[in-house]
Amino acid sequence: MAKDHAIVELQHVYQMYGRGERRFTAVQDVNLTVREGEFVVLLGPSGCGKSTLLRIITGLQSPSEGTVLYRGEPLRGVNPHATIVFQTFALFPWLTVLENVEVALKAKGVPAKLRVARALDWIDVVGLDGFEMAYPRELSGGMRQKVGFARAMAVEPELLCLDEPFSALDVLSAESLRGELLELWVGGKIPTKAILMVTHNIDEAVYLADRIVVMEKNPGRIVNELQIGLPHPRQRKSPEYLRIVDQVYALLVGQTQPEAIELGSAPGEPGRTRSLPAIRIGDLAGLLEHVAESAKPAHDVYVLKDELGVDDDYLFRLIDAAEMLGFGTVSQGDFIITPLGETFAAASILARKEIFATRISRIPIFRWLMGLLKAAEGNELEREVILRALELEFPPEEAERQLDIIIEWGRYAELLSYDDDREVIFLERAPAVKTAA
Ligand code: ADP
Repeated sequence: MAKDHAIVELQHVYQMYGRGERRFTAVQDVNLTVREGEFVVLLGPSGCGKSTLLRIITGLQSPSEGTVLYRGEPLRGVNPHATIVFQTFALFPWLTVLENVEVALKAKGVPAKLRVARALDWIDVVGLDGFEMAYPRELSGGMRQKVGFARAMAVEPELLCLDEPFSALDVLSAESLRGELLELWVGGKIPTKAILMVTHNIDEAVYLADRIVVMEKNPGRIVNELQIGLPHPRQRKSPEYLRIVDQVYALLVGQTQPEAIELGSAPGEPGRTRSLPAIRIGDLAGLLEHVAESAKPAHDVYVLKDELGVDDDYLFRLIDAAEMLGFGTVSQGDFIITPLGETFAAASILARKEIFATRISRIPIFRWLMGLLKAAEGNELEREVILRALELEFPPEEAERQLDIIIEWGRYAELLSYDDDREVIFLERAPAVKTAA
């Protein structure tokens, strides 16, 4: 497909919201072109204006300032060439799968006879063959979202806009639906000319996108772009793939301290092995949500202590964890959340686990343990064995505590598991997911 033809162009787009003193700039000077053949992903923290941009592009609202061109012509009113798929698709509960897909075609004025045939085709394409007469309540979440896709695709939009379309699904359904979307798109099985997707999930962005556009908030703006030159289907374990995932994280983490100093070294290596702070991950998420929700960029650490109702010691541990993971920084007594921290705070449970897994995999003590487990027979080791190794670095009590923290974090990230009865730690097996073949 030709890549040079612009489908949609935003030129110096601004969006202001609110009145009088409450007026603020939600989107500032956005310039973005989506070309024919491109799959573009918008990535950024909650509130950076991603949904606003999707609404502007689909013509559901016009910007306060700036120009929106569709195929070179100024866009007026609702964009007839674009369709949005939302996170959770609102299906009509009293209509069957077939009728739910037909509704969109009816609204487009497609004649009745054609409607049924086309709806049936799309139900087949998304893999719901045999469920035409089922009602939404009889379907799983993943299947309902497939109906949503079928409904969006049936009108054959030239531009497909996706607003976190996989984030409400379980891991397997999300992965299978991503695979199906890629198959349709890369295989040229749909008339759609370009896809623009909003997501919080970094791996999903790297897996699907030709180009990732990174945004920041206060005010919402584009701060970076990254072209992903990898062919499909992408190999998640390949060095090139992992390098790009790292690059995207770096763009989102922004300016933190040099990581080598911050993270320390692994047990057995020269240098200090940095201990992990004893915190509950739910509390860390709570801190980040609290900071992300308020409009202030910097939070006085002592005010935070009162706002969160925790003691000094625990707050420092939470902040320490946030810094280790690249979710926040401390400067002159203020805690400042990074764009990655904001992304984490706004993400779904699954995307949070994914972000957490990537971040802890960079911490030397964690990498060390993963390396031991990978090399061990059956990918498992007795707790005692690891404890002995940690006792070379820490006093016995602290070694015990460190191991508990590593296990808790690893479990949360779904990277490792612990069998209480046998007292063994083992690597979590990656789910055998279906991807676009
Ligand atoms: P995102 O999709 O990245 O989370 P949004 O586009 O939803 O961002 O919102 C950007 C900013 O604009 C946020 O601060 C949000 O609260 C604000 N906002 C969005 N829509 C409106 C609206 N209709 N009225 C007032 N403020 C809005």
